[in-house]
Amino acid sequence: MPHARTPFRCSDLAASAVWSMLGAALVIHGCAQTPPAARRDPSAARAPAVVARAPVPAPAAPAPAPVPEPAPAQRRPVFSERPSVPTEEPELRVRIAALRRADPVVRLSHPGGSLRMLGAGLPARPVASPVDVRPTDAGWRVTEGAGTRGARTVDVSLRGPIEFAPPPGARQVTVYDGTSWPGPVRIVPTADGPAALDLVVDVPLERYLPGVLAKELIKSWDPEAFRAQAIAARSFAVCEQAHWKGRRHYDLVAGEASQAWVGEVKDAKPREAVAATRGMLLAFEGRVVPAYYSSTCGGTPANAVESLTHNPHHGIAPLAAGLDGPSAVRTCCDDAPRWRWDQSFTNAEICERLRRWARARLDLDRPAAPGSPPPPPPSDGELALDAPLEALAGISRIDSIEVTASNPAGRPNRVRLQDASGRTLELRAEDFRRAVNFAPEGSPTPKHRLNSSHLAKARVVADRVEFAGRGFGHGVGMCQYGAQDMARGGARAERILATYYPGAAIVRAW
Ligand SMILES: [Zn+2]
Repeated sequence: MPHARTPFRCSDLAASAVWSMLGAALVIHGCAQTPPAARRDPSAARAPAVVARAPVPAPAAPAPAPVPEPAPAQRRPVFSERPSVPTEEPELRVRIAALRRADPVVRLSHPGGSLRMLGAGLPARPVASPVDVRPTDAGWRVTEGAGTRGARTVDVSLRGPIEFAPPPGARQVTVYDGTSWPGPVRIVPTADGPAALDLVVDVPLERYLPGVLAKELIKSWDPEAFRAQAIAARSFAVCEQAHWKGRRHYDLVAGEASQAWVGEVKDAKPREAVAATRGMLLAFEGRVVPAYYSSTCGGTPANAVESLTHNPHHGIAPLAAGLDGPSAVRTCCDDAPRWRWDQSFTNAEICERLRRWARARLDLDRPAAPGSPPPPPPSDGELALDAPLEALAGISRIDSIEVTASNPAGRPNRVRLQDASGRTLELRAEDFRRAVNFAPEGSPTPKHRLNSSHLAKARVVADRVEFAGRGFGHGVGMCQYGAQDMARGGARAERILATYYPGAAIVRAW
C-alpha cells in the first residue's frame, strides 16, 4: 500500500550429473508445487521425483500454474490488525518487476558466470549465466549462456514458479535489468494473463533497507534523516509483510506502490543508517506502526484513515497529524521544490486515466484466463472503497472539480467532479490523485503526474484542467523534506520521528 515518493530524482545432486550428460532439449517433470517458503533451502527438500529424458518431446503438460489467489467472495479488503512487535528479523518477498507483455523473456545473470535453477520437485542444477527464461505451454524454456556461442536451450516441465539463485559460496546477488538484487530471483506466473509473470526476490529486512534509503532520500542529506527514514521504512515493511503473508505471493513492490528499492547498494550512508538502527521499529500500544511517509507535506499533513486507508486499525494517534487542527499546519518543507506548484493536464488525459483506474478496480480489463482464479485486488485495495467506479469507468469529460471536505489542517479529503452529462461524482481526494497518476500493472508510471491531492485551486479551461497545489505525496506520517530540515538543524532521528508519529515509541525488536 501507500508509500512514499522519491524526492525529485525525482525498485543436488546426483541429478545434476544427469543434466550434464544429456544435451539440449531436456524435459524434466517436476512434482507438485510447494510453497516458495518451503523451497528456500533446496537441500531440505525430499528427493524429488525427477525423470530426465532426451530428446523426446515434452508431453502435454499444463501451463505454469498461476499462484492460487482468493476467490472473488474473499477479495474484499481485509482490515488486518497492526502486527505485534516481532521477535526476529523477517524475510520479505519483494516484487521487483511485473511483466505483462505477450512474449516475456527474463534475462538473469551472475557476475561469477553461473546460477542455480530451482523449482518445486526440481533438482537444483547449475546453469551458465546469462540465462533467458520464457514461459511455455508445458512450463519453462531456459536458454543457458544466452547470447553466447555456447547457448543451449532446455525445456523444463514445471508447474508454478521457477527460481534462479547465486551458487553457494559466491556473491549472493542475481542481476536482472542491470540491477544487482540480493539473493535468488523467483519467476512467478500470475493469473493476470497467459504470459503474465512477476519477479520476486526474497530478502532479509535489514539487507533490504539500504536499497530503500538510497532511492527514497537524496544522497547529500543528513545521516539523521537517513536514520529516521530507516526506522520508518523498517516499520512500514514489517506491517506490509504481516498483512500480505498468505494472501499474496509478495509482500512489497519495489516502487511507489510500497517503497522504492534499488537492490544492493554500496553507498555508506544508507548502509550505516540501517546498521545504526538495526531492529528498531515504531510501536504504539504494543503493535507496530505502519509508518507511512511521503516527500513533501506542503505544510498540510494528512490523516491516514481519512485520506489513505479505510483500515480502522490505522486510526491511531501517530498517523493522525492532520486532525490536530490549525496547529498541525507546518512550514517543515517550505524549501522543497514542490512546496507550492501549478500543473496542467488535458481534460482527455485525466479522463482516460480515471477510466482506466476505475476499470482496473472493476476488473473490466483483465484478460480471460479459463480455469484460473482471479487475482487479488490491486495493492491499494483498501482505497477506493467508496469511489463511484462504474461512473468513473465511463467518464469522458470533466466540467468542474471542487473540494467538498478538508481536514482541520486545510488539506482536501474529498473532491467532487461534474462530468459532461451533468453527473456529480464524489471521491476521496487521494483516490483522485491515484487515479490521475494511474498506470496499468506492468506499465511504466506516467511521467506527468499530479503532485498531491492538496488542491488549492482546480479549474477547467478550454480542453485543459489546471491545478494549483501544495506538496508532493500523500502527506501522511513523516515528511521527508521536513525530516531533512530537522536533521540539518541538529535534531536526532528520535526527535524527527516523535514529531511526525506523535505518541509512537521506538523499540528494538531484534
Ligand atoms: Zn513537510
